Amino acid sequence: MIFDKFYELFANDLGIDLGTSNTLVYVKGQGIILSEPSVVAIHARTGRVLAIGKEAKRMVGKTPGDIIATRPMKDGVISDFETVEKMIRYFMQKVHNRRTLLKPRVVIGIPSGITEVERRAVKEAVMQAGARDNLLIQEALASAIGADLPIQEPAGNMIVDIGGGTTEIAVISLGGMVLSNSIRVGGDEFNEAVVQFLRKRYNLVIGEQTAETVKITIGSAFPFKGEKRSKMEIKGRDALTGLPKGIVLDAPEIRKAIQDPLNQVIEAVKATLEKTPPELASDICDRGIVLSGGGSLLRGLDLLISKMTNVPAILSENPLTSVVMGTKKFLDELEFVNKSAYKLLLSDDSFFYLSE
Ligand code: ADP
Ligand code: MG
Repeated sequence: MIFDKFYELFANDLGIDLGTSNTLVYVKGQGIILSEPSVVAIHARTGRVLAIGKEAKRMVGKTPGDIIATRPMKDGVISDFETVEKMIRYFMQKVHNRRTLLKPRVVIGIPSGITEVERRAVKEAVMQAGARDNLLIQEALASAIGADLPIQEPAGNMIVDIGGGTTEIAVISLGGMVLSNSIRVGGDEFNEAVVQFLRKRYNLVIGEQTAETVKITIGSAFPFKGEKRSKMEIKGRDALTGLPKGIVLDAPEIRKAIQDPLNQVIEAVKATLEKTPPELASDICDRGIVLSGGGSLLRGLDLLISKMTNVPAILSENPLTSVVMGTKKFLDELEFVNKSAYKLLLSDDSFFYLSE
């Protein structure tokens, strides 16, 4: 219909990955045009929002007493609805094309662990921020689509998406979620474990951002060649004297520090595999477990998962963008779904599955 074509020309539909650490926005016909930390800086006394995204992240750990930098999506819980709403609105407005009059349709990836109330909160926020329609899609499913897993086939696929605050595990077959598991352990817990370890073992106090740098620079999940020579000087404050101090640590020591959250991720993957129907489990053994999310970039995590589960684990091609690319493919599909089917889907407030 001419009217539909008209629609497609002018509506800049959006795909959003509302992550606990990072928010990415895809604009139809343009690509991923926004990638910023999911951080909001708030004035402690007045509650006023001072900055959002990149600018707010710069304030983390360096803020004077009266500025609080929060991560409203952290731990996969929407701890503060109003802040989430402001964040969504800010990001949506930032990418908004002023020449268009039409409001965008929005496909948004969210953690499967969130509650019905939180789900509604996201929908409301998206609409308030100027959407015409919205569809929520489970992150793990979006991630699988974005990572090009053949999820429409009648065979089992497993995706493990390790974000900042959560790890989402899903078994998908025939376009639908057969099993899913979400734990509130992700890359942030690795940082936190590094902080705790240094404090207990060396009386060294460091901030979360330093811990993240240490993790990314010399962190690992599995032994690697030359790891003893992989060293780093870590600077912080002595817990006893309060004075600055620096110590040099090697990769094996940092691996010891993150043992606990590593085990939790492994246990969650194993538990999901154990619950997987045998036929699908055998497909997963053949195809491998696909890893995505920033947390999966930890050195050797694929090797550790392979060893502990006896199933090959493969890092997806673009771990940080698979969810948003999944929402993109989803938007592309929407064009082919006829209007009535689309409406039907929208009238259902539950999650949208591709097989429905
Ligand atoms: P979310 O989807 O929850 O926003 P992301 O997928 O963006 O999370 O991943 C963020 C997490 O990935 C952070 O905890 C970050 O420390 C971690 N991360 C990013 N790059 C690396 C890396 N090279 N090695 C280890 N961890 C990483
Ligand atoms: Mg994510």
